Amino acid sequence: MYVVELVFECFDDTTISAVEKGINGLMDALRFNGQVLGREFPVVLGDGEFMVRAVCPDQDSMHPKYHSDFVKVCLKRLSDASLLAPKVRLLGLDINSEQAAEEETPSWQVLYTTYVHTCSPLRSGESLLPIPLYRNPPTLNGDHKSVIKWQTEWQACDEIQMAGGCKAEHAALRELTEVDSDLFRRGWDIRGRIEYITHIPTYYYQYRVGGKSLQDEQARKCPKCGGDWLLDQPLHDIFYFKCDSCRIVSNISWDHLK
Ligand SMILES: [Zn+2]
Repeated sequence: MYVVELVFECFDDTTISAVEKGINGLMDALRFNGQVLGREFPVVLGDGEFMVRAVCPDQDSMHPKYHSDFVKVCLKRLSDASLLAPKVRLLGLDINSEQAAEEETPSWQVLYTTYVHTCSPLRSGESLLPIPLYRNPPTLNGDHKSVIKWQTEWQACDEIQMAGGCKAEHAALRELTEVDSDLFRRGWDIRGRIEYITHIPTYYYQYRVGGKSLQDEQARKCPKCGGDWLLDQPLHDIFYFKCDSCRIVSNISWDHLK
Protein backbone atom coordinates (compact mmCIF):
# COMPACT_ATOMS: atom_id res chain seq x y z
CA MET A 1 0.00 0.00 0.00
CA TYR A 2 1.11 3.56 -0.66
CA VAL A 3 0.63 6.83 1.14
CA VAL A 4 -0.52 9.76 -0.97
CA GLU A 5 -1.18 13.38 -0.21
CA LEU A 6 -4.04 15.14 -1.95
CA VAL A 7 -3.58 18.89 -2.21
CA PHE A 8 -6.70 21.00 -2.76
CA GLU A 9 -6.11 24.58 -3.85
CA CYS A 10 -8.72 27.29 -3.30
CA PHE A 11 -9.46 29.49 -6.31
CA ASP A 12 -11.72 31.88 -4.40
CA ASP A 13 -12.91 32.71 -0.88
CA THR A 14 -14.55 29.79 0.82
CA THR A 15 -15.70 28.57 4.23
CA ILE A 16 -14.38 25.72 6.36
CA SER A 17 -17.78 24.01 6.35
CA ALA A 18 -17.99 24.09 2.54
CA VAL A 19 -14.45 22.70 2.27
CA GLU A 20 -15.17 20.01 4.84
CA LYS A 21 -18.29 18.95 2.96
CA GLY A 22 -16.53 18.90 -0.39
CA ILE A 23 -13.41 17.02 0.70
CA ASN A 24 -15.17 14.54 2.97
CA GLY A 25 -17.68 13.79 0.22
CA LEU A 26 -14.87 13.04 -2.20
CA MET A 27 -12.99 10.88 0.32
CA ASP A 28 -16.14 8.83 0.97
CA ALA A 29 -16.61 8.31 -2.76
CA LEU A 30 -12.97 7.22 -3.15
CA ARG A 31 -13.30 4.89 -0.18
CA PHE A 32 -16.45 3.26 -1.54
CA ASN A 33 -14.57 2.64 -4.78
CA GLY A 34 -11.59 1.06 -3.01
CA GLN A 35 -9.21 3.82 -4.16
CA VAL A 36 -8.36 4.88 -0.61
CA LEU A 37 -8.35 2.62 2.43
CA GLY A 38 -9.36 3.22 6.02
CA ARG A 39 -11.92 5.63 7.35
CA GLU A 40 -10.13 8.58 8.87
CA PHE A 41 -8.58 11.25 6.72
CA PRO A 42 -7.03 14.19 8.54
CA VAL A 43 -7.46 17.44 6.62
CA VAL A 44 -4.73 20.02 7.18
CA LEU A 45 -5.22 23.69 6.44
CA GLY A 46 -2.22 25.17 4.68
CA ASP A 47 -1.56 28.47 2.92
CA GLY A 48 -4.53 28.77 0.58
CA GLU A 49 -4.71 25.01 0.28
CA PHE A 50 -5.88 21.93 2.12
CA MET A 51 -3.95 18.67 2.40
CA VAL A 52 -5.30 15.19 3.01
CA ARG A 53 -3.22 12.07 3.57
CA ALA A 54 -4.56 8.67 2.63
CA VAL A 55 -3.41 5.10 2.07
CA CYS A 56 -4.00 3.64 -1.40
CA PRO A 57 -3.66 0.04 -2.57
CA ASP A 58 -1.32 0.88 -5.42
CA GLN A 59 0.88 3.66 -6.84
CA ASP A 60 -1.68 4.56 -9.50
CA SER A 61 -4.86 4.10 -7.42
CA MET A 62 -5.86 7.74 -7.87
CA HIS A 63 -5.66 7.60 -11.67
CA PRO A 64 -8.87 8.98 -13.24
CA LYS A 65 -9.32 5.77 -15.24
CA TYR A 66 -10.40 4.09 -12.00
CA HIS A 67 -12.86 6.77 -10.88
CA SER A 68 -16.46 5.72 -10.30
CA ASP A 69 -19.31 7.97 -11.43
CA PHE A 70 -19.75 9.00 -7.81
CA VAL A 71 -16.08 10.05 -7.56
CA LYS A 72 -16.47 12.10 -10.75
CA VAL A 73 -19.56 13.84 -9.36
CA CYS A 74 -17.75 14.63 -6.10
CA LEU A 75 -14.77 16.06 -8.01
CA LYS A 76 -17.14 18.40 -9.87
CA ARG A 77 -18.81 19.40 -6.61
CA LEU A 78 -15.48 20.64 -5.22
CA SER A 79 -15.96 23.86 -7.17
CA ASP A 80 -19.00 24.62 -4.95
CA ALA A 81 -16.43 25.04 -2.17
CA SER A 82 -14.10 27.02 -4.50
CA LEU A 83 -11.67 24.11 -4.59
CA LEU A 84 -9.76 22.80 -7.59
CA ALA A 85 -9.47 19.09 -8.27
CA PRO A 86 -6.67 17.78 -6.02
CA LYS A 87 -3.07 17.33 -7.05
CA VAL A 88 -1.83 13.91 -6.00
CA ARG A 89 1.61 13.51 -4.44
CA LEU A 90 2.92 10.01 -3.90
CA LEU A 91 4.71 10.05 -0.53
CA GLY A 92 5.90 6.45 -0.63
CA LEU A 93 5.32 2.90 0.48
CA ASP A 94 3.43 2.27 3.71
CA ILE A 95 5.64 -0.22 5.52
CA ASN A 96 2.77 -1.16 7.83
CA SER A 97 0.52 -2.63 5.17
CA GLU A 98 0.41 -5.41 2.64
CA GLN A 99 1.21 -5.08 -1.03
CA ALA A 100 -1.58 -5.45 -3.57
CA ALA A 101 -1.92 -8.53 -5.76
CA GLU A 102 -0.29 -8.53 -9.20
CA GLU A 103 -2.52 -7.41 -12.01
CA GLU A 104 -2.98 -10.87 -13.42
CA THR A 105 -6.18 -12.85 -13.38
CA PRO A 106 -6.18 -15.33 -10.49
CA SER A 107 -7.69 -18.79 -11.02
CA TRP A 108 -9.89 -18.16 -7.99
CA GLN A 109 -10.42 -15.45 -5.39
CA VAL A 110 -11.92 -15.14 -1.94
CA LEU A 111 -13.77 -12.57 0.11
CA TYR A 112 -11.69 -12.61 3.29
CA THR A 113 -10.96 -10.01 5.92
CA THR A 114 -10.17 -9.74 9.63
CA TYR A 115 -10.57 -6.88 12.07
CA VAL A 116 -6.92 -5.85 11.62
CA HIS A 117 -7.00 -5.57 7.83
CA THR A 118 -7.78 -2.28 6.13
CA CYS A 119 -7.02 -3.49 2.62
CA SER A 120 -9.47 -4.86 0.07
CA PRO A 121 -11.37 -7.92 1.32
CA LEU A 122 -11.18 -9.45 -2.16
CA ARG A 123 -8.04 -11.58 -2.30
CA SER A 124 -6.27 -13.63 -4.92
CA GLY A 125 -6.71 -17.36 -4.32
CA GLU A 126 -3.12 -17.90 -5.44
CA SER A 127 -1.27 -15.40 -3.27
CA LEU A 128 -3.98 -14.28 -0.79
CA LEU A 129 -2.86 -10.73 -1.58
CA PRO A 130 -5.60 -8.08 -1.73
CA ILE A 131 -7.05 -7.17 -5.13
CA PRO A 132 -7.93 -3.46 -5.30
CA LEU A 133 -11.70 -3.26 -5.81
CA TYR A 134 -11.54 -0.51 -8.46
CA ARG A 135 -9.74 -2.91 -10.82
CA ASN A 136 -13.08 -4.66 -11.32
CA PRO A 137 -16.25 -3.19 -12.82
CA PRO A 138 -18.66 -1.78 -10.19
CA THR A 139 -20.03 -4.46 -7.85
CA LEU A 140 -23.41 -2.76 -7.45
CA ASN A 141 -24.93 0.67 -8.15
CA GLY A 142 -21.86 2.23 -9.72
CA ASP A 143 -19.13 1.36 -7.20
CA HIS A 144 -18.04 -1.06 -4.48
CA LYS A 145 -19.83 0.48 -1.50
CA SER A 146 -21.73 -2.77 -0.82
CA VAL A 147 -18.40 -4.63 -0.42
CA ILE A 148 -16.91 -1.94 1.83
CA LYS A 149 -20.07 -1.84 3.97
CA TRP A 150 -20.04 -5.61 4.34
CA GLN A 151 -16.34 -5.53 5.26
CA THR A 152 -16.86 -2.81 7.88
CA GLU A 153 -19.61 -4.82 9.57
CA TRP A 154 -17.68 -8.09 9.40
CA GLN A 155 -14.68 -6.40 11.02
CA ALA A 156 -16.86 -4.86 13.73
CA CYS A 157 -18.27 -8.30 14.58
CA ASP A 158 -14.76 -9.80 14.51
CA GLU A 159 -13.45 -7.14 16.87
CA ILE A 160 -16.31 -7.73 19.32
CA GLN A 161 -15.92 -11.50 19.34
CA MET A 162 -12.11 -11.35 19.57
CA ALA A 163 -12.28 -8.99 22.55
CA GLY A 164 -14.90 -11.20 24.17
CA GLY A 165 -15.69 -8.61 26.78
CA CYS A 166 -19.40 -8.03 26.35
CA LYS A 167 -22.72 -9.74 25.80
CA ALA A 168 -22.70 -8.92 22.09
CA GLU A 169 -19.93 -11.50 21.63
CA HIS A 170 -22.23 -14.40 20.80
CA ALA A 171 -24.44 -12.40 18.47
CA ALA A 172 -21.34 -11.12 16.66
CA LEU A 173 -19.85 -14.60 16.39
CA ARG A 174 -23.10 -15.91 14.94
CA GLU A 175 -22.89 -13.36 12.10
CA LEU A 176 -19.40 -14.65 11.18
CA THR A 177 -20.09 -18.37 11.47
CA GLU A 178 -23.71 -19.19 10.61
CA VAL A 179 -24.74 -19.51 6.97
CA ASP A 180 -28.24 -18.18 7.71
CA SER A 181 -27.05 -15.00 9.48
CA ASP A 182 -27.65 -11.64 7.82
CA LEU A 183 -23.96 -10.88 7.36
CA PHE A 184 -23.12 -14.29 5.95
CA ARG A 185 -25.98 -14.18 3.46
CA ARG A 186 -25.13 -10.67 2.37
CA GLY A 187 -21.44 -11.46 1.99
CA TRP A 188 -22.18 -14.64 0.11
CA ASP A 189 -24.45 -12.74 -2.29
CA ILE A 190 -21.72 -10.11 -2.85
CA ARG A 191 -19.32 -12.96 -3.59
CA GLY A 192 -21.75 -14.19 -6.26
CA ARG A 193 -22.01 -10.73 -7.72
CA ILE A 194 -18.21 -10.40 -7.93
CA GLU A 195 -17.95 -13.81 -9.56
CA TYR A 196 -20.57 -12.77 -12.12
CA ILE A 197 -18.71 -9.54 -12.92
CA THR A 198 -15.19 -10.96 -13.04
CA HIS A 199 -15.89 -14.48 -14.37
CA ILE A 200 -13.50 -15.77 -11.69
CA PRO A 201 -14.66 -18.40 -9.17
CA THR A 202 -15.13 -16.36 -5.99
CA TYR A 203 -15.41 -17.91 -2.52
CA TYR A 204 -16.76 -16.73 0.79
CA TYR A 205 -14.94 -17.38 4.05
CA GLN A 206 -16.78 -18.99 6.93
CA TYR A 207 -15.11 -18.22 10.26
CA ARG A 208 -14.92 -21.22 12.58
CA VAL A 209 -14.08 -21.40 16.29
CA GLY A 210 -14.90 -23.82 19.13
CA GLY A 211 -15.88 -27.45 18.58
CA LYS A 212 -15.14 -30.54 20.68
CA SER A 213 -12.04 -32.12 19.15
CA LEU A 214 -9.78 -32.08 16.12
CA GLN A 215 -11.47 -35.27 14.84
CA ASP A 216 -14.90 -33.70 15.14
CA GLU A 217 -13.69 -30.59 13.38
CA GLN A 218 -12.10 -32.53 10.52
CA ALA A 219 -15.37 -34.37 10.02
CA ARG A 220 -17.24 -31.12 9.63
CA LYS A 221 -19.37 -30.88 6.46
CA CYS A 222 -20.08 -27.96 4.18
CA PRO A 223 -22.57 -25.76 6.06
CA LYS A 224 -24.63 -25.14 2.93
CA CYS A 225 -24.89 -28.49 1.09
CA GLY A 226 -23.73 -30.91 3.80
CA GLY A 227 -21.09 -32.38 1.46
CA ASP A 228 -17.48 -33.38 2.15
CA TRP A 229 -15.13 -30.45 1.83
CA LEU A 230 -11.96 -31.17 3.84
CA LEU A 231 -8.83 -30.46 1.76
CA ASP A 232 -5.78 -32.76 1.73
CA GLN A 233 -3.56 -29.74 2.29
CA PRO A 234 -4.66 -26.41 3.74
CA LEU A 235 -4.44 -23.36 1.48
CA HIS A 236 -2.39 -20.45 2.83
CA ASP A 237 -2.45 -22.19 6.27
CA ILE A 238 -5.97 -20.82 6.73
CA PHE A 239 -8.42 -22.64 4.52
CA TYR A 240 -8.75 -26.31 5.48
CA PHE A 241 -12.17 -26.68 3.88
CA LYS A 242 -13.38 -25.73 0.41
CA CYS A 243 -16.71 -26.49 -1.23
CA ASP A 244 -16.51 -25.83 -4.95
CA SER A 245 -20.26 -26.03 -5.54
CA CYS A 246 -21.24 -23.71 -2.65
CA ARG A 247 -18.15 -21.47 -3.05
CA ILE A 248 -17.32 -21.48 0.67
CA VAL A 249 -13.93 -21.92 2.35
CA SER A 250 -13.31 -22.29 6.08
CA ASN A 251 -10.61 -22.87 8.69
CA ILE A 252 -10.27 -25.66 11.22
CA SER A 253 -11.19 -24.30 14.61
CA TRP A 254 -8.00 -22.71 15.94
CA ASP A 255 -8.76 -24.26 19.34
CA HIS A 256 -7.67 -27.67 18.02
CA LEU A 257 -4.64 -26.73 15.94
CA LYS A 258 -2.10 -26.26 18.72
ZN1 LIG B 1 -21.31 -27.11 -0.19
